[in-house]
Formats: sequence, C-alpha cells, structure tokens
Amino acid sequence: MTDVATTPLTEPTGAVVPSSVPTHWYNLAADLPQPCPPALHPGTREPLGPDDLAPLFPMALILQEVSTERWIEIPQTVREIYALWRPSPLIRAHRLERALGTSAKIFYKYEGVSPAGSHKPNTAVAQAYYNAIEGTTKLTTETGAGQWGASLSFACSLLGLDCEVWQVRASFDAKPYRRFQMETYGGVCHPSPSDLTESGRAMLAADPETTGSLGMAISEAVEVAAGDPKAHYALGSVLNHVLLHQSVIGTEALAQLDEIGETADVVFGCAGGGSNLAGLSFPFIGRNLTANGTTQVVACEPAACPSLTQGEYRYDHGDVAGLTPLLKMHTLGSDFVPPPIHAGGLRYHGMAPMVSHALELGLLEAIAVEQDDAFRAGVEFARAEGMIPAPESTHAVAGAMARARAATTDETILIGLSGNGVLDLPSYSDYV
Ligand SMILES: *Cc1c(COP(=O)(O)O)cnc(C)c1O
Repeated sequence: MTDVATTPLTEPTGAVVPSSVPTHWYNLAADLPQPCPPALHPGTREPLGPDDLAPLFPMALILQEVSTERWIEIPQTVREIYALWRPSPLIRAHRLERALGTSAKIFYKYEGVSPAGSHKPNTAVAQAYYNAIEGTTKLTTETGAGQWGASLSFACSLLGLDCEVWQVRASFDAKPYRRFQMETYGGVCHPSPSDLTESGRAMLAADPETTGSLGMAISEAVEVAAGDPKAHYALGSVLNHVLLHQSVIGTEALAQLDEIGETADVVFGCAGGGSNLAGLSFPFIGRNLTANGTTQVVACEPAACPSLTQGEYRYDHGDVAGLTPLLKMHTLGSDFVPPPIHAGGLRYHGMAPMVSHALELGLLEAIAVEQDDAFRAGVEFARAEGMIPAPESTHAVAGAMARARAATTDETILIGLSGNGVLDLPSYSDYV
C-alpha cells in the first residue's frame, strides 16, 4: 500500500482520463518548410545553448523549446489535470449564425471552461509539473490582465509550488479580482514596476507614474528567479514550449470537427503573444503542410498594440531591461508601452517567434481590430450565444463576424474563444 499523504503531487492519482484528452502535444517545428530563427544570447548574440537557459527553466522545457520532434508525449499527471476541464467544448453558434443572417457555419472552441477561465492553464500545468519534478520550489512570473498569474497560481497549488507574480500596474489597480483569484490559490502578487527588484526601481526612477507593461514585469520576475537557485521563471506565451502545450486546443478541435464530418475553412484567433492562436491553428497548419489541408488562419490583434500588422520583423528583447534572450519576432520595440486597453492580455510589444515566422512564410495572415469593434462583437456574441467572451477573445469574434457577414457560401468558420469575460464585466459595462 502506498501512503497517500506522502505521495508526491507530481505522481498520477489513477483518475480515469477520457481518450478524447490528447496523449501528445503537436510541434509545428517538425513540419515547417524552413526552420524558425533561433533565440540569441542577449550579451554575445550567439544562438542560445541549453546551459544559458538553465537558471530560468527546467531542462525538460529547454529541450521542448528547441525540439523538432512532431509529437511529444503528455505526462499522465498533466493529462489527469487536463481532464478536470478537457476536452474543452466545440460548439456550433447556431443562434449567432441566425442573428447575422449568414450562410456560413460558425463554430467556437471554448477555453473558458478551465478553472482559471482561459486557455492559459494548458501550459501553466505543464510548466509547473516539469519544474516540480526537477526540484524547483518556487515559480516567478509576470501577468498583464491577471489571467496568466491566476493560471500559474492554480497550477502551482495543484503541484505543490510557491508562486510569485508581478502584475502590470494598470491592471493591478483596475482588475483586483484576478489578484483575489491568485491569492485564493496561494499565489503572491505585486504591482509592477515594484521597489522589490533592481530593474523595477530603475523603471520607477525613470517614470514614477508609469502604468507598467508586460516587458517591465518580465524583467522583475526574471531577475528574482535568476537570483534564487530554488526558483525558476515561467512565461505564459511567446516561447515555443508554451505554444507546444497549447496545441491540445487545435488537436481536439480537429478531432471534434472530424467526428461530425466538418473541417474548418478559416480559423480566427486573437493574438497577444500568440499562444492561443498557435494552440488552435498550428495543428490545422500542420495538416495544410502535410496532408493537403486548406484551412486559412487569421490572427486578430488589437489596433492599439499591432505587432503583427505594424511591427518590424527583427531580433528584439522580450523585456524592457534586456535580461531575456533576443527573439526574432514582429515587434513594436521592447520599450513600447501599450495604451491601457481593456484586453490586457493582448498588451505585449512582441509576437511569438513561431507565429511571426509562420506569418513571414505565408502560413497565416493578420488583421488589426479596433477596441470598439471588438466589444460590439463581444456583446452581440453574448446576446446570441449566452457566453460572455474575454475582452481578448472578442477580437477573434469580431474578425469572424465580419467574415460571416460577407460570406456567400456555407463555409465553416472556427473561432478560438480563448477565455470567458466574467471577471472583466467592468470593461463590458464601460462599453455598454
Ligand atoms: C492571455 C490571453 C490572451 C493573449 O495571449 P496569447 O498568448 O496571445 O494567447 C488571449 N485571450 C485570453 C483569454 C488570455 O487570457
């Protein structure tokens, strides 16, 4: 008999996991016609080696970051936790179709059913798991609107890790409910920039009134993790291993559409750092590349922070202080401070290197959506379907609704509904 009380939290519990929960993550790097440009060391500008990343990440994630293996097995403990809300529902938006008077069929893949209310736990759980089995005791991170901080706090509590979060000041002040969510899970949340780190103090000295940015918060979280041998850092988007973990969304959606004899003609996803868009669309892009699929992919970003449609494609830092590796990406510049729009999760100066590379290769396209158009679409969606989309997700809804209104065929449109908006009702209230 095993002693239940002393069984590590990283061990499977023996829970039954439905076979519809994916067994493997899909890695687009295996199928790309040209490899994605590598991350560079911020000092030497040479390609990064595993040892450069070891102060920040566990080795399993570093290996996933550079992997070109097509399928990577999901550990059973992670699948058990996924099964608390996965597979997430794929829903046909019949009432929205009727409201729009469209000939198109509209489906949405709804990630708002996770305990934290968005897609982010798909990677938070995986990252907490690999850190826990390699002996990390604390994870530090940044968060914008708070979804990532809440997701990582959730994952850390299930896997027995401490969690310390730097939240962009504008959201820390405007959206306290996410902080309450983090604290309920046992996480600790500071406004960023803070006076707890050297980089935070420097940013406050430069502008005491700053509303903060994800780039600033990343600098603070990275600094603390790099200075504590038992702590590691976790990033909620942008990096290859994050996009990899999110592939469960698209793998499930492909299977769910197959089961009802449908396929997506076009996929719309919102894009901040690119993780939910990649998670939903990369399995479809993989099918385009390897099995004659013809799915079109449209990234929908906020007009106020338009890295894909307006940014330069070049090497840039992920943070303000320049502590992180140089990534080749579409960027507005690492010192860009986005205006405090409601869709806090889309306020990032750069875009995932894999998503940027896919845009360059013509594997996906991008549009920018104005905030008012996004909220109008979110409200229309909520009134037709009942679900209130997260402010981030409304950008994808707006893109999809414009397409549906113009449709002249019965094409199939798939929307990535990355999260629910129940904790963002003050933003909706401002709009309504
Ligand atoms: C964080 C977040 C986003 C933006 O992040 P991506 O990495 O671009 O997916 C989008 N939607 C929701 C609900 C989020 O929480």
